[in-house]
Amino acid sequence: MTRQSHCNICNIIVRGNINLINVTKWPMPMMIKDQFQRPLRDLRISVTDRCNFRCPYCMPAEIFGAGYKFLPKSELLTFSEMTRLVQILVGLGVVKLRLTGGEPLLRRDIEQLVAMLAAIDGVEDMAMTTNAYLLPGKVQALREAGLQRLTISLDSLDDAVFRKMNGDRACVADVLKGLEAAEQAGFSPLKINAVVQRGVNDHTIVDLARFFKERGHILRFIEYMDVGNINGWRMDDVVPASEIVSRIDAEMPLEALPPNYPGEVATRFRYRDGGGEVGVIASVTKPFCGGCTRLRLSCEGVFYTCLFAAQGTDLRTPMRDGASDDELKAIVRKMWRERTDRYSEERTEVTSAPAQKVEMYHIGG
Ligand code: SAM
Ligand code: SF4
Ligand code: SF4
Repeated sequence: MTRQSHCNICNIIVRGNINLINVTKWPMPMMIKDQFQRPLRDLRISVTDRCNFRCPYCMPAEIFGAGYKFLPKSELLTFSEMTRLVQILVGLGVVKLRLTGGEPLLRRDIEQLVAMLAAIDGVEDMAMTTNAYLLPGKVQALREAGLQRLTISLDSLDDAVFRKMNGDRACVADVLKGLEAAEQAGFSPLKINAVVQRGVNDHTIVDLARFFKERGHILRFIEYMDVGNINGWRMDDVVPASEIVSRIDAEMPLEALPPNYPGEVATRFRYRDGGGEVGVIASVTKPFCGGCTRLRLSCEGVFYTCLFAAQGTDLRTPMRDGASDDELKAIVRKMWRERTDRYSEERTEVTSAPAQKVEMYHIGG
């Protein structure tokens, strides 16, 4: 029999080896659940496999050089195809969307997709993660099209460090221009993602925290993850979230905040002087698979039930072969019901990683 116990304080069910958030507290009329009783709630859509940066932890320049063959347009899902899939997924419980990539602003007319998705009844929240380089020319149109929230990635305020972390494609001022444009368009507070790599940018953590504290945006430090196979990840490169928090707390005292909703990936803190919020995403040292309600759609129409998956489920082929909405829905329902992913919890238990994991730029962060 499976071992099961329940903690009333943190709302976690321990079943076998997985720490499950108590999903009975999620109000969802049409939810489908996976093998660990996790409902489908969030969809991340990678709208392009291209990017104007070459962050070594995601798309190293040595691999994604001038001769690299990105997907041809004919293989990318069209906006109508994406919209159709989202309509089907909303019928299975999805309420939150995040557009990502690659760099989502490189997808031509992305604001048209935003408008099409915003018009779907049942989509409660739509956000985008971007490196912000192209935001000044796009952000107003995104706002008008119905985008609700923006996350901007910025790993350091030190130009030399930042350039190293984006493959020498942009300076800090470029991102700050995008950030200011986003503020002016009404996207405030913003969320800021910063990946932390030991020996690369960890000495700049506190500066980044101070800057965004003063600016009133919500900074999230992300533990460097072993997504894909090409970034040469080593555990030694990871700065544990607990260490990130202690370093900030030593200079600007923090206190813990409760999650905004069950299964939130960030652990939140507020500054004791009342100056806003900061968070850490401890996907390596404190995995949160038990509350993982996220499905990912690659730009060519393959669904992945985990960021670290080796294989996905192709929906583009049946869709282009004429499958009905009910047939496509049945494929997604089966895929989610069979889901057993808990890679980040297993990472510490197994010695060998799954073969050929999908890359981050392909399915989005
Ligand atoms: N290009 C956009 C950007 O950078 O914001 C969106 C796509 S990017 C894949 C989404 C997020 O994933 C970014 O915040 C990025 O820093 C993060 N990311 C990429 N590779 C990562 C890794 N190996 N570990 C942790 N976070 C990573
Ligand atoms: Fe591009 Fe974002 Fe990956 Fe950096 S993290 S290479 S900006 S997709
Ligand atoms: Fe979800 Fe997979 Fe990440 Fe676990 S490892 S939280 S299942 S995406």
